[in-house]
Amino acid sequence: MQHRKIAFIGAGNMANAIIAGLVAHGYPASMITVCSPTPVRRDKMAQDYGIISTNDNLTAAQLADVIVLAVKPQMMKDVCEPLRQLTNLENKLILTIAAGIPAARYNDYFAHSLRLVRIMPNTPSLVGKGVSGLFAQSNVSEDDKQFTQQLMESVGSTTWCTKESEINNIIALTGSSPAYFFLFMESMQQKAEQLGYDEKQARELVLNAIEGSVALAKSQGDTPFSTLREQVTSKGGTTAMALEQFYQGHLPQTVANAMQSAIDRAEEME
Ligand code: NAD
Repeated sequence: MQHRKIAFIGAGNMANAIIAGLVAHGYPASMITVCSPTPVRRDKMAQDYGIISTNDNLTAAQLADVIVLAVKPQMMKDVCEPLRQLTNLENKLILTIAAGIPAARYNDYFAHSLRLVRIMPNTPSLVGKGVSGLFAQSNVSEDDKQFTQQLMESVGSTTWCTKESEINNIIALTGSSPAYFFLFMESMQQKAEQLGYDEKQARELVLNAIEGSVALAKSQGDTPFSTLREQVTSKGGTTAMALEQFYQGHLPQTVANAMQSAIDRAEEME
């Protein structure tokens, strides 16, 4: 991976995950700066990873080749507008992980036509198993794209969106979906506890069943999920009876509706 000077603006969970991934993959810590007004958080990251920490966004951004905007969306305007003062913006690649802010709006915030990539990561990035959707503005070079992809591959896998609207599909598919799976796990755990398992046992059984199912699916190459489902379902058997309940509750349609609602909300937020 190429090594460029990176300034992370924001020292939250996501910045922490990406920095941890980069350093674990051998990225030179001396080329990473993290900026945050809260000293506890940024100093802990400096200690943990050997990176530089500061509360001076402008100086860090001025010295960097790559600026990663990692603050909450509602903070973004206030954080970006002072960066208009940067003297060599055309030489910088700007990456943003904020949800719900269209790429063009950053050009307004910075009063400049930016080389910008929108990144939509998800929380499994915190354990190196994330999925990130990436969308590049038209003036981003192949070299910049490759750098961004490698950066996000340090915390998982990546997929490029050719149209910006696809970022909202990625939100529904991978950004929000850890919560869908956690709801399913929560529901199974509740029933397991009603059956008499204690909380710890119930949690462990659910986790192991899901982990095993994912591992099995991965081991079967491109085998469709429907085939894997059929392979554990004997006609008239216990699994068939359980699945019947899901179909009666219109689970496939409910999942589709849920994903569409996430997309609609993402569009509304823009
Ligand atoms: P967080 O609340 O954990 O962190 C935000 C950080 O910004 C804090 O360290 C805060 O000190 C810092 N900050 C606030 N004002 C600042 C300023 N003026 N200058 C510099 N730093 C400032 O947030 P997070 O969960 O890491 O999320 C960061 C971004 O990532 C958000 O825009 C969010 O939409 C996006 N995102 C998060 C997730 C997720 O699952 N956590 C997933 C996808 C995208």
